[in-house]
Amino acid sequence: MTAEARSVRVRLAPSPTGTLHIGTARTAVFNWLFARHSGGRFLLRIEDTDRERSKPEYTANILDGLRWLGLDWDEEPVIQSQRLEQHRAAIQQLLDAGQAYRCYASEEELTAMREQQAAAKQAPRYDNRHRDLSPEQEQAYIAEGREPVVRFRIDDDRTITWTDLVRGEMRWSGRDLGGDMVIARRAPAHRIGDPLYNLVVVVDDAAMAISHVIRGEDHIANTAKQLLLYEALGQPAPAFAHTPLILNQEGKKLSKRDGVTSISDFRAMGYSATALANYMTLLGWSPPEGMGERFSLQQAAAVFGFERVNRAGARFDWDKLNWLNGQVLREQGAESLRQQLAPLWAERGWGQAGAANPVQADPAWQCQLSELLGPSLTLLADGVEQAEPFFTTPELNDAARAQLEVAGARAALAALAEALEPLTASDLGADQAQALLSEAAAAAGVKKGVIMKSLRAALLGSLQGPDLLTTWLLLHRSGDDLPRIARCL
Ligand code: GLU
Repeated sequence: MTAEARSVRVRLAPSPTGTLHIGTARTAVFNWLFARHSGGRFLLRIEDTDRERSKPEYTANILDGLRWLGLDWDEEPVIQSQRLEQHRAAIQQLLDAGQAYRCYASEEELTAMREQQAAAKQAPRYDNRHRDLSPEQEQAYIAEGREPVVRFRIDDDRTITWTDLVRGEMRWSGRDLGGDMVIARRAPAHRIGDPLYNLVVVVDDAAMAISHVIRGEDHIANTAKQLLLYEALGQPAPAFAHTPLILNQEGKKLSKRDGVTSISDFRAMGYSATALANYMTLLGWSPPEGMGERFSLQQAAAVFGFERVNRAGARFDWDKLNWLNGQVLREQGAESLRQQLAPLWAERGWGQAGAANPVQADPAWQCQLSELLGPSLTLLADGVEQAEPFFTTPELNDAARAQLEVAGARAALAALAEALEPLTASDLGADQAQALLSEAAAAAGVKKGVIMKSLRAALLGSLQGPDLLTTWLLLHRSGDDLPRIARCL
């Protein structure tokens, strides 16, 4: 490992003003992959300085979601609100150096300024009007009772450049950053008001020795401002990588209006953490040739690099996520699937210990059921819906009822019922079951297809469902086949 690789330190800096959003989680994935690829550290900083909107339950939701996805972090999370003194000290440093100043412009004056700019078809910006107030002018404003903000000087003729690890050479003009930037909210002039985002991020990233800032491309303009702050504070700037936005089906930025966007929602819908993490990796990153699309976070970390992160927005594709989820469910094997399904079944009162039908509570029976359902599952929750006719006797739907009216159908089922009568639960094997079907068909003078369809109708109440023979054997073991056939005669 090179010295450079050892010093990689990246961070996720979520604001706990909502639940863990897919965009934040995807940013977390890329940070984690890069940290693990480089043998570096993945850190968390909870940006909770918006006191009104930040809530401890959101912090809990975010940490829980990251943990669930398998995105482990390496040090105690830094809590931004506990670092107020350091943020204020940095603002004071900028004030002392003349790189920041107090601006007394009132909200009304700023609004009037913006209205004039709009009327003149100019972009809204602060016109730096209080940049060079004399001490007398300041005193006069203070005497009026005005409370200032603190602004950081951004010279119009500065050019800010950096080499973005995703987007390449980046260039911003100071002129396009909206004028001198507010770094502390209004407060009486002898104090420093609440420090604001761009300032605190720089102070904290510097203190945490962050080597690479990996975040969404909606932060690009902030990066230009933050680079000026690093310079003014005399701190080395990290490298930057701006990842593409996640887009909805219409190609617009994915937002709350698109419905499910919280990791906890995906989780509640039954998506597996493995599939979701896999999918998020594909949202903006292309795996190397030959790797396929189904891989673990560890496998992705081994080959991760920014050269394969796309610049274009990444469209959210439910079909791909669903496909991955089905893959993950199947590759886990029947027993693992059973362990995940059993609690969901139990919530419906199915298959618990002490159930009316003890066979349904038998792990071996449940494991066979899981194996039977596995291939048709997209979501774990499908394993609840599809298991229902195995735990409770379903009503016959129209197609099933129609099937029983087919000539010879009931006679064939009656012959089958008669043959089943003397058999105990453990008595029926696959070969014998096949033979019974043939005999019943022959007895009623119908094709084997008729008895098979009719049996499916009787057992599942529907003509759709998983493999018939396995279905039957399972329902025979739980003693449910004969009563279900008998009710159709
Ligand atoms: N709290 C900011 C956000 O959630 C952090 C952005 C950054 O990574 O600097 O957007």
